[in-house]
Amino acid sequence: MSTRPARQPADESVETGVCSDIGRVRQKNMDAVLVVPPVFAVADGMGGMPAGEVASNLALESIKFQLTRPPRTAAELRQALETANRDVLAAAEQKPEWLGMGTTLTALVIQPTRTLIAHIGDSRAYLLRGGRLKQLTADHSYVAELVRQGQLTAGEARLHPHRNMLTRALGNQPEIAVDTGSHPLKPGDALILCTDGLTGLLSDGEIAETADRAPSAQAAAERLVEAANARGGPDNITAVVVRLGGAT
Ligand code: MN
Repeated sequence: MSTRPARQPADESVETGVCSDIGRVRQKNMDAVLVVPPVFAVADGMGGMPAGEVASNLALESIKFQLTRPPRTAAELRQALETANRDVLAAAEQKPEWLGMGTTLTALVIQPTRTLIAHIGDSRAYLLRGGRLKQLTADHSYVAELVRQGQLTAGEARLHPHRNMLTRALGNQPEIAVDTGSHPLKPGDALILCTDGLTGLLSDGEIAETADRAPSAQAAAERLVEAANARGGPDNITAVVVRLGGAT
């Protein structure tokens, strides 16, 4: 398992854990992570090899390069994703084997009393509060549409043959529709960013329990990835866990 040590956060009351793993079946890890507190993001690349890996890493490099200061509004964060989209598209035009590459991208900016969110694709951001998990992002996938229409349950969606079909992604068309939002935060909250290699195998209840019981943010990220690997690890698995201090 490949792990990266948690970076020392700018704010000492924020604790970060990161784990990104190739899983047990894939030949490459096409997931990518950005941890530059207060900015956190995950990306899950798609396309043939190595295009998916290029797309996810390039998109996050673009975001990082743009961060002369942290975005102050969700609109600023969305603009960063739109610029990343143009950067991935421009790169894809330079090599035939990169044509059509794309990536999911889910990003947070953690502010003192809220988090900003910008999101496209089927990676997810969750809020863990008091042991309960709340999904802050809507998956842009075919099966998620069916769940929203009441035609599938979340459990059925995880097993559906077309579960990997995205309805939106970054990097394969000039205009993208990025979801944005902000969500209030309280002391003791945790935020979890993850790719479908995790959420395809663990229910929200299992993610909540695993993350809540872990003694640290890093342990939480590692245990989530271990749990997905224990179920076969068919995809790359990435989890970023950010814990806010100050809980009583
Ligand atoms: Mn994936």
